[in-house]
Order: sequence, then C-alpha cells, then structure tokens
Amino acid sequence: MGNAMWKCRECDAELDFEEIDPEVDSHGLHFICPECGHRNKLVNIGKPDGPIELVQPDS
Ligand SMILES: [Zn+2]
Repeated sequence: MGNAMWKCRECDAELDFEEIDPEVDSHGLHFICPECGHRNKLVNIGKPDGPIELVQPDS
C-alpha cells in the first residue's frame, strides 16, 4: 500500500489525498504542496471514458 499518499518531490511531505487539491493548467495536471508550495506533477491513468485516476509519476 505504498501508494496511499502523495509525496512532495521538494520537501518530502507526505500528503493524504484529501489534503491536496489537484489542478490542471496549460502544463497539465499537478498539485501544489501545502507545505512548501512546490508544483508536483500528476498523471491521469484512467481510461478516457472512465473515472479520473491520478498518480504521481516516478520521475
Ligand atoms: Zn513540499
């Protein structure tokens, strides 16, 4: 269950899904770390006709 939280790439804060608010802009999906303000990339791995399924890419 190592994917139960998201982690800020900048400050290593571990964030519950409820804590963060995914946003989309011209550069794509991301969330802003509430601890340090770093922009963390997200990708949607859900099917086009299915529910959105957000994951944090490894790199
Ligand atoms: Zn952070």
